[in-house]
Amino acid sequence: MEESTKQPCPVCGKNGLTLRDREIEVPYFGKTFVFAMQCSECGFSKADVEFKEKKDPAKIVFEVNCEEDLFSRVIKSSTAKVKLPGLRMSMDPGENSEGFVTNVEGLIGRFEKILETQRDTTDDKTIRKKAKNLLKKIWKVKLGEIPLKIIIEDKSGNSAIISDKTEVSKLK
Ligand SMILES: [Zn+2]
Repeated sequence: MEESTKQPCPVCGKNGLTLRDREIEVPYFGKTFVFAMQCSECGFSKADVEFKEKKDPAKIVFEVNCEEDLFSRVIKSSTAKVKLPGLRMSMDPGENSEGFVTNVEGLIGRFEKILETQRDTTDDKTIRKKAKNLLKKIWKVKLGEIPLKIIIEDKSGNSAIISDKTEVSKLK
């Protein structure tokens, strides 16, 4: 991993930015940059991933059917929209979106965390009940008892789920 400190920050302009990056090799996609930056002056932070080779906008569809599927590698960039239609949940691209490298279990875990927060912080019984039900569903998905479809739409093409089962099409 490479680290450079005291870089100019794109937000506040002061030299408070620390930039960390590393290069990993992703099957079928080749060299991939994983980077994170954080400014000690204004608190700005950003993490993202990018394939070295430029890709077309892509729609990625993957269905989790068994425990083994949880270990498939996931590369999600900040421009990706992640949808779990079965849970009616999604993760949007944009300013606050981060890119990361994980596996299917880790990706589902991020949704799990949102639901756990909802369950533990809301006073609304309906919302709490809904969150609990969805958490139960995720638990069954992890046990391989029920399938879960994951759809990633990425206009930069910098996202992937590495598996023979993944269906990739051009994003319209
Ligand atoms: Zn800054």
